[in-house]
Amino acid sequence: MKKYAFLLLLLNLTFVPLFAQMPDTISANAEVKTITRDGLTLHFIRNVPFSPVTQQRLIDAFFTVYPAEVKRFNPNAATEVTFMVDSGYKGVAATSHGLVRYNPEWFKKHPEDIDVVTHEVMHIVQNYRSNHVPGWLTEGIADYARYVFGINNEKSGWSLTAYKAGQNYTNAYRITARFLVWAEKNKKQGLVDSLDNNMRADTYGPELWKELTGKTVDELWQEYITNPVL
Ligand SMILES: [Zn+2]
Repeated sequence: MKKYAFLLLLLNLTFVPLFAQMPDTISANAEVKTITRDGLTLHFIRNVPFSPVTQQRLIDAFFTVYPAEVKRFNPNAATEVTFMVDSGYKGVAATSHGLVRYNPEWFKKHPEDIDVVTHEVMHIVQNYRSNHVPGWLTEGIADYARYVFGINNEKSGWSLTAYKAGQNYTNAYRITARFLVWAEKNKKQGLVDSLDNNMRADTYGPELWKELTGKTVDELWQEYITNPVL
């Protein structure tokens, strides 16, 4: 009961919109655990029974990868984050304003897919608020971060998608991430850092690719597909 009271308090403080959307998914079975380490606070909420082993792995992943992503991309990123294992959420995971929701069924079937955390918390680091930020690049950078900072990618069978004819940089996720890795290696070290900074500052536009690399994104992609070796 005490736990539930705390949960309601927390919900009132931070989750009013979420609560309003899905009141039936928060139940008296809900549990909240708060962990503070090295200046970071993680609230872990679940509304269904969940593997304690997986729970600990998700928590450990957060405290491993988030500080690394923050340090490289955005030292002003949030220091308080909430993970919610939510039986009412049917995707894999989704992030909004410091809250990451996870589908418990996904982790039952894919217990090694711990770096879902690495992708999702990069969205908290990104903290893009502009409407001019292309979604494909937001997701490409999040998977780039998973590739660079991931702790269990190999074991989970996750890797960048090999180039095949018909792809485009706007395909997002691993396809865009691979293109970004290639562009940093062959064209401009720190390209992703500059793109990310500009997207957060709302100074991103297509011309930025040319400013940073001397080529438009379409020209870069043409070069990439003629020799996509990493
Ligand atoms: Zn994403």
